[in-house]
Amino acid sequence: MNIIQCTMCRKPFNSLGRRICNSCLEQIDKDFITVRDYIYEHKQTNMDKVSDETGVSKQHILYLLKEGRLILDDETGAGGFLLCESCKKPIKTGRLCDNCTKNVSSKMQKSVESHKPAAAAQDHEHDNFKASAKLQNK
Ligand SMILES: [Zn+2]
Ligand SMILES: [Zn+2]
Repeated sequence: MNIIQCTMCRKPFNSLGRRICNSCLEQIDKDFITVRDYIYEHKQTNMDKVSDETGVSKQHILYLLKEGRLILDDETGAGGFLLCESCKKPIKTGRLCDNCTKNVSSKMQKSVESHKPAAAAQDHEHDNFKASAKLQNK
């Protein structure tokens, strides 16, 4: 048993690796359909309107946006509710803006490269063949 507090309703529940309780997840699934249909018919909309007119709480809409299940097509994204977790720019869906997503993936590539043995990298400057032979022996 691993009892934690639901991040939505704050009620304690038995977490099976999740941070949201079953009743909130069920509600969010229903809300998802409501909001998705609303956005489908009202393409230019924002968080306030969606919440007011569908009765779905902003907290649930925000969760669905962060999960990437919903996209708000408005220029302001979710009206400033949904911000890039890295540079705090308003975004439409997910957790990072396009720029930061690119930065993260290029950083990940760099860290993969830095895992090559340093000696091999130095040899590489002098003798390409030796360096690649060392890498293969490893
Ligand atoms: Zn809950
Ligand atoms: Zn960003």
